Amino acid sequence: MEGLIPDDIVERVRSGVDIVELISERVSLKKRGANYLGLCPFHNEKTPSFTVSPAKQIFHCFGCGAGGDAVGFLIRHDNFTFPEAVRRLAERAGIEIPESTPGVGRSGKGEYEATLKANLEAAEFYSDCLHKSKEGEKARAYLKKRGITDEVAREHVLGYSPSGWDGLLGRLGKKGIAPESAEKSGLAVKRSTGQGHYDRFRDRLMFPIKDVRGRVIGFGGRTMGDDEPKYLNSPETALFKKGDTLYLIDTAAEPIRKKGYAVIVEGYMDAIACHRAGVSNAVATLGTALTPGHLRLLGRYAKKVMLVFDSDAAGLKAAERSLEVFLGTEMTAKVALLPQGDDPDSLFKREGAAGLTERLKASEGLMDFVIRRVSSGANAIEEKVAAASALTGILARVTNGVERSHYIKRSAEVLGVPESALVEELNKKLGRTVAGRPGKQAFAAASRLEEELLHLAIRYPEVAVEAVGELGPDDFSDAKLRAIAAKLFEMVEAEGEVNVPRLLDTLKEQAEKEMLLALSVRGGEYDDPAASARGSVARLLKGRVDRRLAELSRQMKEAEENKDLDLLNKLQKEFIEWQKKKS
Ligand SMILES: [Zn+2]
Repeated sequence: MEGLIPDDIVERVRSGVDIVELISERVSLKKRGANYLGLCPFHNEKTPSFTVSPAKQIFHCFGCGAGGDAVGFLIRHDNFTFPEAVRRLAERAGIEIPESTPGVGRSGKGEYEATLKANLEAAEFYSDCLHKSKEGEKARAYLKKRGITDEVAREHVLGYSPSGWDGLLGRLGKKGIAPESAEKSGLAVKRSTGQGHYDRFRDRLMFPIKDVRGRVIGFGGRTMGDDEPKYLNSPETALFKKGDTLYLIDTAAEPIRKKGYAVIVEGYMDAIACHRAGVSNAVATLGTALTPGHLRLLGRYAKKVMLVFDSDAAGLKAAERSLEVFLGTEMTAKVALLPQGDDPDSLFKREGAAGLTERLKASEGLMDFVIRRVSSGANAIEEKVAAASALTGILARVTNGVERSHYIKRSAEVLGVPESALVEELNKKLGRTVAGRPGKQAFAAASRLEEELLHLAIRYPEVAVEAVGELGPDDFSDAKLRAIAAKLFEMVEAEGEVNVPRLLDTLKEQAEKEMLLALSVRGGEYDDPAASARGSVARLLKGRVDRRLAELSRQMKEAEENKDLDLLNKLQKEFIEWQKKKS
């Protein structure tokens, strides 16, 4: 979708909106120097590290790394899609978006709204059928048997889809919603033979699935008998993506933020049981394994997650598999295991709120859990070798060094092997020599200098114009800074100015974007920016000369050893040329 919106429209919208004004409506901001500062809406903090730059029209949080332009803020904060956010900002700025623009124009928006309207009508219809219809008696009895009171059913807008083939279509028709529109919303299916449509959900208990803003975006239908499948979900639509959606996120989002973590269970009934037990920060996946999309959604509210599994073989396997999604993210996970054969719903029914919350308290770190599971039963030496290989494979993907060394120690203990053996195995997997990376300190000093130069260039583009002439991206030794420098210099050369939001779009890696954002909002005054820049450029160039000289002397030594006098001669001449540049 993103690519379909003409860049000039996005650009006009961006420049027509003041990001400080926009964010101020949602976050309380205070002026601090050239920037505005507030408490980050994307993570829990007590001292403000959320920065908004009016000059650059971007926001950046030093605490959690969230950042971007006005469009990015709306996507993250209000859960808009890209076209929705652009449209909202266009309305604000009084910019007309051509109707033919795909994904943003009236037609795209119209389809969204039609789907939401159809879903809302359907939820009402299913609810009416559950509470008022004669056929709904069956579903009422089922809920009663499962301990769901009328009140709880109404609170979660549970419903019943009747067994006829066109009950919902009839109701939608009366409200002016055509069968084709119901089909697009996933509520009806086109007949494969003959003409017309029929209801997708028949004779099922219905769970409306809402987004963070409480809009019904899809449904889960559960059979009350032995029909297959046991659960039937809405098909994926423009609004409904199973891998990005969690059941009850609409009511759980705020409690998740307050408690600092989310509880993830596997079924609709389980999520409802958790909420009844006072675990209001619980959500359920929609019959899929946990996805990166789920973590992105939850990550807006908290960085911690508690996974709840049944301790049967399938549950243990699922817990192990879920580790995959967390590796390399900043989210951490714990695992709570329920007694074999139990789920939160059955446990709540049998032991009440206390029984359920007690089990959740007895959780352990997901990595500790996996280490324990992988090591268990590894007694013979071949078994230990296999377990060590599996564990180091996992540990190689833990990016935080402190965490990694903690888990190496833990793995060594549990497995009963020396820590050094695991470290050696791990280094092999990382393709790293035991000697480690040389000259780390010199490297850090160089990248500080490079950072300073980019910081200057972003704030004083005229400085960048001057620097471009003498420097190339290759003069930057830090990969992130090199990537930023390449795009920055390109932009400066073409336009003579630095537009940070557009520059962000051109960067591929998240780490590069975060670095650019951090540099763009960084404070600090320069008495004479041009002089500072000249100084930095000179030192960077000196670094380039030093590197070249070192390389040349290495080659000269080699040529001497090989008695290649022609080459030695040539290298010596070049060496003298470079040495002249040094003075
Ligand atoms: Zn933050």
